[in-house]
Amino acid sequence: MAKIRWDREIDLLVAGAGPGGMTAGLVAGLEGLDVLICEKSQLVGGTGATSAGTLWIPENTQSRDEGYVDSADDATAYLNALIGDGSDNLQRSAFIAEGPRVIDDLMARTELAFVACGPHPDYRSNLPGASSAGRAIIPEVFNGRLLGRDFARIRPPIKEYMLLGGMMVGKIDIAHLLGRWQNVQNFTHTIRLVLRYLVDRLRYARGTRLVMGNALIGRLYYSLKQNGIPIQFGAALDDLIKLEGRVAGATIKTKEGILRVRTRRGVVLATGGFAHNQAMREAYMPRLGPIYSMAVTENTGDGLRVGKRTGGALNPPTSGQGGLWTPVSRVTRKDGTEGLYPHIILDRAKPGLIAVNAQGHRFVNEAVSYHDFVEGMFSAHKSSPSIPCHLICDAQFIRKYGLGIIHPGTTDLSRFERNGYIRTAPTLKSLASTINADAEVLTETILRHNKFSVEGSDPDFGKGDTELNRFNGDPDHRPNPCLGPIEIGPFVALKIWPAELACSTGLATDADARVLDDKSAPIPGLYACGNDMDSVMAGTYPGPGTTLGPALVFAHRAAMHAAKQ
Ligand SMILES: Cc1cc2nc3c(=O)[nH]c(=O)nc-3n(C[C@H](O)[C@H](O)[C@H](O)COP(=O)(O)OP(=O)(O)OC[C@H]3O[C@@H](n4cnc5c(N)ncnc54)[C@H](O)[C@@H]3O)c2cc1C
Repeated sequence: MAKIRWDREIDLLVAGAGPGGMTAGLVAGLEGLDVLICEKSQLVGGTGATSAGTLWIPENTQSRDEGYVDSADDATAYLNALIGDGSDNLQRSAFIAEGPRVIDDLMARTELAFVACGPHPDYRSNLPGASSAGRAIIPEVFNGRLLGRDFARIRPPIKEYMLLGGMMVGKIDIAHLLGRWQNVQNFTHTIRLVLRYLVDRLRYARGTRLVMGNALIGRLYYSLKQNGIPIQFGAALDDLIKLEGRVAGATIKTKEGILRVRTRRGVVLATGGFAHNQAMREAYMPRLGPIYSMAVTENTGDGLRVGKRTGGALNPPTSGQGGLWTPVSRVTRKDGTEGLYPHIILDRAKPGLIAVNAQGHRFVNEAVSYHDFVEGMFSAHKSSPSIPCHLICDAQFIRKYGLGIIHPGTTDLSRFERNGYIRTAPTLKSLASTINADAEVLTETILRHNKFSVEGSDPDFGKGDTELNRFNGDPDHRPNPCLGPIEIGPFVALKIWPAELACSTGLATDADARVLDDKSAPIPGLYACGNDMDSVMAGTYPGPGTTLGPALVFAHRAAMHAAKQ
């Protein structure tokens, strides 16, 4: 140890200022530890800032206060049915038992504030123990102006999630905006949003009324600042220093050179996983066909790399997966850059839309969760090319429900066709030829689906059969809220690829988020949370908030454990 020239000595180093790292740093700081958060980029938030910000926390207080009933037993039964028996899985039981307490503690001691999401079925709503409401919570709207000049440090959401070039809208705002001419309340809400946005733009590069993942990150950053917990920007964790069997420090790469930081309590790895590390993708996320990533480009597997080098074990991908998925369409923006639009809830489940593979056959229930939809693409692709696939609908569908980046109410599709976002054709035969599908197969597929929509059931794939399907369908559409005919041209095709929202393979950890070695023994002084930690959901996607719920819970547990050492 005498040989190492330390530049700095602290209690706890946290690598990465995403939701995982910021929570760990915040809690450790509140517990009285001398903390430093090092962040590779110049911004806080990571992928978390671009997310919907939903947390899956069974039996949470915020939903209970709104009258939603849940129980740890039901949540346990649900995860057992989805993942497999977890009676000896201490990490899973800690997540279920401690989740509500962690959220309450964060709300009591920081600026974090969550509200019940209300009705929102679990993603396998037909399994035992599944809940139809109350397990999801979302961050309360945050006023970014409170951050003053540091507002510019919050990573913006994906461009396609903002209106008017910079105004964020949450799920609740969408209903008001779409119904703005229907009643005074909607109209007033819309006017308020727009006026506030216009005032913001006099001083800020975008709107400061933050919702979803930006609200979560805004609240975390504000809390860190209020408690004087520092973030060093442009500072990438490079390696760990192990002394006498314990992680006792780390090296951090900065513009000025390498910084050697000695840590009395340890290091928390929260660098967001390996999404942009091609070699790790091939090893831990083996997949057929092209797959995109929604993660920020800084997430290059640094946490996994240094964790492994220090003796940390990597859990093998459970059920061969390694990722949590969403279908995406590719968007060419006005400035020529390319974006990815995640098809999470707004279009796939609505009546009058199907997904077809390269030949023109359906291959999946279009209304399942985004993760299950992509799993459907992967499994279909093994026997017939299904990556990319196409969403097919007609122009009436788009007018009513929208499609990807095309908002409901749009009648003129020419702009989207010109920039290559969609293909349109007057007949099914000509649509088939524009997407290189078999015209007879595509026509037969659509006629068969149209028959199902009249009968109200889909014996082929069960679209509209589950509570989740119907929740995202159109409740006013009969007889099946997810099935409607595709019959009046012009017809529309939109190309869809798989992308990962999060890595699920990560470092093996225990219930306190301590990194384990290959004999399942904790490595003293080393913790991992967020996507650096192997997902407690083992590659499954139980419900909205599958990664952020555990990210916050285990970040909290890591910090509390370090504080007690
Ligand atoms: C569109 C979209 C919607 C989503 N919605 C949800 C949702 O509603 N609920 C949910 O549960 N999940 C959601 N997710 C997934 C969720 O955003 C991620 O799983 C989550 O952000 C992971 O948190 P993290 O802290 O591990 O990583 P990140 O949020 O990616 O943060 C990692 C941080 O580490 C930094 N970093 C990287 N390497 C280093 C290094 N060497 N040293 C220092 N810093 C480093 C990065 O710059 C980054 O700031 C969504 C994802 C997307 C793309």
